[in-house]
Amino acid sequence: MVEQSVYDEFSNNLRGRLVRPGDKEYDESRSVYNGMIDRKPKCIAYCHNVADVITAVRFARKENFRPAIRGGGHNAAGLGVCDDGLVIDLSTINFTHVEPQEKTVRVGGGATWGDVDHATHAFGLATPSGIVSTTGVGGLTLGGGLGHLTRTYGLTIDNLLEADLVLADGSFVTANKDQNPDLFWAIRGGGGNFGVVTSFKFRLHEVSTVYAGPTFWEMDEAEEIMHWYREFILDAPNEINGFFAIQIIPPVPPFPEHLHNKTMCGVLWCYPGSLDKAEEVFEPIRKVGNIALDMVGPLPYPALQSMFDELYPAGLYSYWKADYLTQWSDEAIKKNIEYGSRIPTPLSGMHLYPVNGAAHEVGNDETAWSYRDANWVENIVGFDPDPANNKKITTWAREYWEEAVHPFTTGGAYVNFMMDEGEDRVRATYRDNYERLAKIKAKYDPDNFFSVNQNIKPFTNGSREKINQKESKLRTTNNR
Ligand SMILES: Cc1cc2nc3c(=O)[nH]c(=O)nc-3n(C[C@H](O)[C@H](O)[C@H](O)COP(=O)(O)OP(=O)(O)OC[C@H]3O[C@@H](n4cnc5c(N)ncnc54)[C@H](O)[C@@H]3O)c2cc1C
Repeated sequence: MVEQSVYDEFSNNLRGRLVRPGDKEYDESRSVYNGMIDRKPKCIAYCHNVADVITAVRFARKENFRPAIRGGGHNAAGLGVCDDGLVIDLSTINFTHVEPQEKTVRVGGGATWGDVDHATHAFGLATPSGIVSTTGVGGLTLGGGLGHLTRTYGLTIDNLLEADLVLADGSFVTANKDQNPDLFWAIRGGGGNFGVVTSFKFRLHEVSTVYAGPTFWEMDEAEEIMHWYREFILDAPNEINGFFAIQIIPPVPPFPEHLHNKTMCGVLWCYPGSLDKAEEVFEPIRKVGNIALDMVGPLPYPALQSMFDELYPAGLYSYWKADYLTQWSDEAIKKNIEYGSRIPTPLSGMHLYPVNGAAHEVGNDETAWSYRDANWVENIVGFDPDPANNKKITTWAREYWEEAVHPFTTGGAYVNFMMDEGEDRVRATYRDNYERLAKIKAKYDPDNFFSVNQNIKPFTNGSREKINQKESKLRTTNNR
């Protein structure tokens, strides 16, 4: 039992607030994006600067509190909050500093992508990120980061130049290609396992007005469209980004009324190339099947990035299942149509994100993100505002994944789309990079202090044997 005076001292040493059970903002402070997550930490420290983060890490060590690091709080598995521990909240460390001449941006560890896009767009610049602007820079980057610019400029980690971290012993370090290069390698895909990132520095690209938006087709054309999309996106020039989706059309403007609440298949495009060439580039795409809705046109990049913010607000109940795919077989397509036609609630759906193009220009062992040979990440997303539908969305997502996704996968999943799925799934995700990650974890966090994440266990003398056993088990499972 920690005395009140210990909390008081901790609170006095922080520039930000310390929130505890009984405080009127406690329930709001412990909530994260996914409404299904209901965890009760012992306290939440709103860290305003690096000094606050160091204070929080030292407090957690001394009092033996398990820390959860919260960036944007978007993680579907709720990894930004924990039971009975300390939440290190970074939301007020959200500064952005653009260097237009060198085309870089330095960003606070708790910023959202909306903060970044807002700052960089003023200079006609952007860096690859996700598709919803309220998502945290921290979690998305550390897990890899895929979105509308992946095929053109790579994953978010491919554009990360440097990060500052507070480590498990409270020390402060910089990681880049010259300083602590092992740590720099590990944080590019290894998640929040290695320390609290207080700032990131990204490379920027000239992206301002993009030619973007969705095209939708009726489900009775889905098989033809999916076959076409599969071939098209594997060979498309890197300037063309487009993720495939099966989705229910929202009953709100700007969607036309005759399509409201209809399950349809579509592609959400983003072409950051020359606008003069855009119509010509999209001419053949517009001839595919009978497009029922074409909303593709010139759009400021931040408008594309925030297109879904209102439809997907914080507090929705959500459950996701995902995998990497190298191929999308005819059989997989048939199964996707079967399960995709049974979307249980208006906001649920299936997304197939391409991770080829520029993302393939980096090798499997050049960063911790070990699936450069995958062509897609498929994510089945169950979403609803009503908790009464939790079972419905969870059951559908699980069944869809079991029947239409997982039998066709290469074995692992993108850590940012995973729920709490156990150690084997984490190992399957990092494949040959796991042992190297475990050794770096042992160097920087030997006690596994940062464990509220897709956890990489520190390498110990018995680890090699355990890894061999797991690998042989995985080989057996994957061969079935
Ligand atoms: C609506 C929605 C849309 C999404 N779209 C995309 C997308 O387009 N592309 C994509 O790649 N992903 C996407 N995601 C997934 C997203 O990348 C993950 O949920 C990610 O974990 C969110 O990061 P966060 O900082 O908001 O999360 P949090 O819940 O705050 O944190 C998630 C994990 O990251 C760690 N972490 C966060 N910040 C830091 C930090 N500064 N230092 C150390 N560790 C940290 C935490 O400890 C935790 O383990 C989306 C998620 C949602 C809910």
